[in-house]
Amino acid sequence: MTETGFQQAVIPESFAGQVAQIAAFIARYHGTMETRAVMPSVDPGAVFDTLPSRAPESAEPFDAIMADVEQIILPALAHWQHPMFFGYFPANASAPAMLADLLCAGLGVQGMLWQTSPACTELEMRVLDWLGELIALPKAFLFGTEGASGAGGGGVIQGTASEAVLSTMIAARAAHGGTSAPHHTVYASTQAHSSVVKAARMCGVVAEHVRLVPTSSDLAMDASALQAMINADIAQGRAPAFICATLGTTSTGAMDPLASIGPIAQRAGAWLHVDAAWAGSAFVCPELRAPMEGIEHADSFNFNPHKWLLTNFDCSCLWLNGQARREQLINAMSITPEYLRNQASESGKVVDYRDWHVPLGRRFRALKLWFVLRMFGAEGLREHIKADLAMAQWLESQVHEEPRLELLAPPSLALLCLAVKAADAPQANAHTRALHDWLRNDGQAVLTHTTVPDGSQAGRYGLRIAIGSPATTQAHVVRLWNLLQHGLDAVIGASTSV
Ligand SMILES: *Cc1c(COP(=O)(O)O)cnc(C)c1O
Repeated sequence: MTETGFQQAVIPESFAGQVAQIAAFIARYHGTMETRAVMPSVDPGAVFDTLPSRAPESAEPFDAIMADVEQIILPALAHWQHPMFFGYFPANASAPAMLADLLCAGLGVQGMLWQTSPACTELEMRVLDWLGELIALPKAFLFGTEGASGAGGGGVIQGTASEAVLSTMIAARAAHGGTSAPHHTVYASTQAHSSVVKAARMCGVVAEHVRLVPTSSDLAMDASALQAMINADIAQGRAPAFICATLGTTSTGAMDPLASIGPIAQRAGAWLHVDAAWAGSAFVCPELRAPMEGIEHADSFNFNPHKWLLTNFDCSCLWLNGQARREQLINAMSITPEYLRNQASESGKVVDYRDWHVPLGRRFRALKLWFVLRMFGAEGLREHIKADLAMAQWLESQVHEEPRLELLAPPSLALLCLAVKAADAPQANAHTRALHDWLRNDGQAVLTHTTVPDGSQAGRYGLRIAIGSPATTQAHVVRLWNLLQHGLDAVIGASTSV
């Protein structure tokens, strides 16, 4: 039998060589990173217009495509792995995760059920236990020695923190008498991620029943305000179903007081979800775990190794506290058409991850975590976090000595939020925006902004500096500091009187 043309192209003889070419390309990309501007300078539509309007009728050679990657794609990228990228939160990439992602693609398995690749499921169970233990989650969050039939909740890889909050909110509502109950209320602080409100919309929580709880001066949830809102809701006949506590808010890294929120959630009978999307990575370091106090009250805990733990997007880990929560999630998500029935599932001895999240199909993402955990070791991961923290602390000390700048919020882990000082808030905002514009124009470093509430309508315009790219060294942070000084000189002058 002869192979047709398309079959030869599926895995051609030249495949290994092409992989080597891609590997060399990636190594060169990272090796020459600093010759590039961090952000692209392209007009909207430029890439779209450059690309042909129709797919090719005949097969094209690999080399032609790689030439286009170089000429069309690279110039229109924001270089997230650049050491001068301090925007948003980091999106760590590393060789172990890249190698494992290639392997994942190469194996091409689909792990929706245990039966559709037992190793895909059981490796995930094991590495989630490893990672859960590394961040000191209580044993009840892990599968433990009994595996699928144990009393532990266990963990699962989701695509994103947004999917994790949606899945757990659906579980919480199902556990509270149905996913369409109109009297359910949902709580998160005013500083919580937008994905909480989005999840509420997607799972049909009445918009007026989404409560944004005020924060204290440190921008963390005010637990007594939460209690008051819950009391008022119960008095009105509503049912508090779900509370999202954030450890490390996106804006300023604030840590909601879990130890106070936990007992409130318990008394109200509400599901307590902890969103530690960014900060969770830091909990591999024992000395940084103070915000985890009270974690035993949480029903679910989520963080994104794809932010700050050297694992390429997408990898967001969700753990359930105990078998009962696990079953509530599965019961809420599980619908079994005849074609998915199988003996293993019915034996009750296996985990079928399709019932733990929104999609049915799933990639073999556990490989990424497995490679990262083994090739860096817990020590390597801790070193990465500690190095970023040390750089953030240095930068903080510089800000304290600079009379033209102030911090808008207490520094959190490797995140600083700063602003230009001025006589009043409107002037400070104008100067901080001008400094941001100066930095954008200069182009050597990327920072993103936020607004921090100060009681006024506008709030305070703040510049966020998130240190976390694995390529960033102290020299880069010094360079950033020098840039900030030049920007201040240009925008408000060298004078220290404001
Ligand atoms: C980044 C972030 C999210 C959203 O993460 P995705 O994985 O992109 O959905 C949610 N919560 C917090 C606190 C975040 O910082």
